Amino acid sequence: MSDTRRRFLGKLSFGFGAAAAAQSLFVADRRAGAAEPSGRKLGFALVGLGKLSGGQLAPALQKTEHCRLTGLVSGSPEKARQWAQQYGVPEKNIYSYDTFDRIKDNPDIDVVYVVLPNSMHAEYTIRAAQAGKHVLCEKPMAVSVKECDEMIAASRAAGRQLAIGYRLHFEPYNLEMVRLAREKVFGGLKIIEATVGFAIGDPSQWRLRKALSGGGSLVDLGIYALQAARCIAGEEPIAVSAQAGLTDPVKFREVEESILFDLKFASGVVASCASSYAAVINRYRAAAERGWFELAPAMNYHGIRGRSSDRDGVKDLQFPDVDQFAAEMDAFADCIQNGRPTTVPGEEGRRDVRIITAIYEAAATGKAVAL
Ligand code: NAD
Repeated sequence: MSDTRRRFLGKLSFGFGAAAAAQSLFVADRRAGAAEPSGRKLGFALVGLGKLSGGQLAPALQKTEHCRLTGLVSGSPEKARQWAQQYGVPEKNIYSYDTFDRIKDNPDIDVVYVVLPNSMHAEYTIRAAQAGKHVLCEKPMAVSVKECDEMIAASRAAGRQLAIGYRLHFEPYNLEMVRLAREKVFGGLKIIEATVGFAIGDPSQWRLRKALSGGGSLVDLGIYALQAARCIAGEEPIAVSAQAGLTDPVKFREVEESILFDLKFASGVVASCASSYAAVINRYRAAAERGWFELAPAMNYHGIRGRSSDRDGVKDLQFPDVDQFAAEMDAFADCIQNGRPTTVPGEEGRRDVRIITAIYEAAATGKAVAL
């Protein structure tokens, strides 16, 4: 592993809440002897060959130090064959959704990366765990807390690790925001703002169908604002209030278009967050006693920019642009190979799903919801 990557991965302990949750996973894993022999690249199978898999994950796997693409799971045999040719995946390692469970007999595949519509995450995570595989599951972890519990239970029962695809835990600017807060570089934290949105295109896509997505801009984008607020605050919210916004009732018949949500933390820190499927916005700012620090854009795949400000003026933050997906997968492989717990376990994904459920309740009732 390169020094630069090791340094960034080393900072992951700043990821809020992960350590305690991961500790219990670690105990379960040690009991089950889940560590893999070091030195071998771990084989990853991608389940769902859509935009994220094609545009980011398959290319990122070519750049990783500890991983390689060894399996493909798709509903389209033709697409899978094309990918297999392009990435040198043997034909025997191609599965359909129906033959997926046979993956248990395939020693080339150590980790299953679930990259399907949100409502399918639980089923494929559980089936992969039952096949004896470690699982990296995309965000949001699932569409209900009950599903999250079932996923965590299945992975524990199998003695395998479950990580959630929170790529920004491996991104230097985002880690710096957490460090600046945690080390009180600008004094005690007071307020956080985090807003993420893009203009969603095709009205027929699964993201706008509640049965497949589980929700609208909140579960897809607001989850980044929620993660930012929780990680920067370094504590869990004790109450949420929320308000939904709708300017296009035809397109957004089933899921929310925009949503504002406020988080209250026990320390007195408050966070004002929002997400939208109708407007482009992408920034986090934290304000402390003696200054502020911000990212804008905050959660892009590349080109994240950051600034901080105190009485000496405004300064640019300077960090390298990394492949966040390669870093995420390498970090998970490193944990598996060395029997260490992931810093982004299922328990972390569950926390967000639980808070998101409360945010929807707050928006529907117009009342603050205690957590
Ligand atoms: P996509 O629509 O491009 O791909 C989804 C894949 O699932 C396709 O290959 C599709 O064929 C397959 N699929 C199987 N059953 C399906 C069904 N019933 N309906 C629709 N598609 C079905 O989606 P995507 O953008 O690749 O997103 C996949 C997952 O990755 C989502 O959970 C999303 O939240 C997550 N994601 C995460 C990031 C990130 O930065 N971490 C970015 C994009 C997407």
